[in-house]
Amino acid sequence: MQKLKIPVTLDIKRAAQHETCYEGYIVLAQMKRLTVSLASDQGDVDVKLQTGVDPRGLSFLKGQAQVSTLSICQRCNQNVNIDLLADFAYSPVKIGYDDDEENQLPDYYEPIQINEFGEIGLRDLIEDELILEVPLIAMHDEQDCPAAGKDMTWGKIEEVVEEKPNPFAVLKQLKRN
Ligand SMILES: [Zn+2]
Repeated sequence: MQKLKIPVTLDIKRAAQHETCYEGYIVLAQMKRLTVSLASDQGDVDVKLQTGVDPRGLSFLKGQAQVSTLSICQRCNQNVNIDLLADFAYSPVKIGYDDDEENQLPDYYEPIQINEFGEIGLRDLIEDELILEVPLIAMHDEQDCPAAGKDMTWGKIEEVVEEKPNPFAVLKQLKRN
C-alpha cells in the first residue's frame, strides 16, 4: 500500500461523516518545532487516523503518530535512539468555544478548534502531540552507554580530616603557663 502524505489541514466534520481512515506520513524535517529538540530531522512520522461520529453525535478524530529518531544522551553526549509514540482523540469545537461547550465533551476527547472553514491544523496537531512525547532527559540504557557507571565517580572527593583543636589541650597549655 502506498503511503500518503498527511494533509496540512482537515475538514474534520466532513471527514467524520464519511468515517474516513487515513494511513500516511509526514516528513519529519517539516516539523521544525519538534526537530529543535531532536538530534536528527531524518525520516518520516508514521500516522494513522480514524474519523467518525460517535453514538452521542460527536465528531471525532482519533489517531496515532510514531517516529524513531535521535536525541542526545545526557550521560555521554552521543546520539541515542528514541521512539516517540503519541495517541490522541479529539473532538472539534468552534473558535471561541466556551467552557460549557468544553464541559459537554466527554473527557476521553480533547477539544480541537476548527477555523472559519471548518478545518483543523492537522499536521500542527500531530506535531504538538509528538512534542509532548519528547523525553526531558534522554539517556542510553546503562549497558549501552559508554559513560555509564562513570558518572558516580566523576570528580574525586578527597576525604578531609578536619583537625579540630582539642579544648583540653588548650586548657593544659594555660595551666603550663
Ligand atoms: Zn549515553
